[in-house]
Amino acid sequence: MRLMKTTAIVLGLAALAVLAPPVAPAAGQADQIISVAERDFAAAGLGRKGLDLLMRKDGRVYIVASPGEIAALAALGVGYDFETGRFLRTSSEGLSAAGGINGAYHSTMELETDLRILERDHPGLASVLEIGETLEKRKILALKISDNAAANENEPAVLLTGCHHAREWISVEVPYLFGKYLLDNYDLDPQVRALVDASEIWIVPIVNPDGLEYSIHVYRYWRKNRRANADGTFGVDINRNYGCAWGIDNEGSSGYPGSDVYRGTGPFSEPETAAVRTLFASVGIDFRALISFHSYGQYILYPWGYTAAPAPEDAELGTIAAAMAGLMAAVQGTVYTHGQASRTLYVTNGDTADWAYSLRGAPAFTVELQPVDIDHGGFFNDEAAIGAVFQENLPAMLYLARYALDHPLPVRPRIVERRDRARRATAAKTKPSVRPAPG
Ligand SMILES: [Zn+2]
Repeated sequence: MRLMKTTAIVLGLAALAVLAPPVAPAAGQADQIISVAERDFAAAGLGRKGLDLLMRKDGRVYIVASPGEIAALAALGVGYDFETGRFLRTSSEGLSAAGGINGAYHSTMELETDLRILERDHPGLASVLEIGETLEKRKILALKISDNAAANENEPAVLLTGCHHAREWISVEVPYLFGKYLLDNYDLDPQVRALVDASEIWIVPIVNPDGLEYSIHVYRYWRKNRRANADGTFGVDINRNYGCAWGIDNEGSSGYPGSDVYRGTGPFSEPETAAVRTLFASVGIDFRALISFHSYGQYILYPWGYTAAPAPEDAELGTIAAAMAGLMAAVQGTVYTHGQASRTLYVTNGDTADWAYSLRGAPAFTVELQPVDIDHGGFFNDEAAIGAVFQENLPAMLYLARYALDHPLPVRPRIVERRDRARRATAAKTKPSVRPAPG
């Protein structure tokens, strides 16, 4: 469903949303949240099946499971309870009616409106560009901030993205608010002005608008895009669809279309990743750094994600990540764990940061925003906390943008992408697996 957000129906639907959260699709059509007794979970060895684990509580393990996974559990004789309705009730807590059906968070249309307002209110400094179109014909929009934003001045550039994953609503707000901050403070803060004048800051707050809308209107836990897969399932994990080490193994992504970390039929098969590639790989823009925002877990992760081997610039990446973590902790004490992605969180392949780094040698980071775990709200950040989460990330974003100004990228061959083409051909076709995928 696409919702026309006129004021009148927003108020009506918002009131409805508070009383009656979006209804989950019937079992058999979409992922469900289920719970399994701890002892059954252990007895069946489910910890090694790569399921999308949400949490353990009161003797039960909570899992986001696809219809295929639920059928597999049934075939194994593992008992489970459907919990989706219970989680949907909590998903509307902390959302105000005034902000529309998803509270103070942006829907796709609300974001476009707000980006156009920034462009209108800051002529010359802000440009809104359409970088792609989704399967459901939604625009993927970028906000470019620079002096003479409409011109290509080949200044050092950074890219900040949000909402690769539909359910990670806070990841839209942090990069959007960064753009707003730069524009609102351009005339007030000489340091902001100097940064904007000398560089290009590119922001794509919603990489995955189709998924976001599905998460808002149908199923809050939706993660992927809305690709209709050949086997009747939906969605590709677009943070496993980039062209570095794509599909190199079945641990860092899945070849099973129903999986929450399904990598798609080929690198850049999805319009969302193709749009980011077209932008970030543009020879006319001197991109020198990237942050891909996600939630949750409070991590700053850097390449490689696909292998435990260190990246060529491992020391530099670690130094930058440590600096960002220090700046973030100084704001209100929030600790972001920093480290190489594969060693710090889990193995991924085909993700944004690995690809951006492999392409240009650009320092590229996945930032998993608050909260730290499911017991602190998981994907459901209270909307009252949006400002604070942005504020604690602000100095790190400023730091990376300034770092990019001072650090041209190393000139070196794209060794990794070449090697991956060869290795991809021999990538193991073992049985599909799904990794836990909180962020
Ligand atoms: Zn994510």
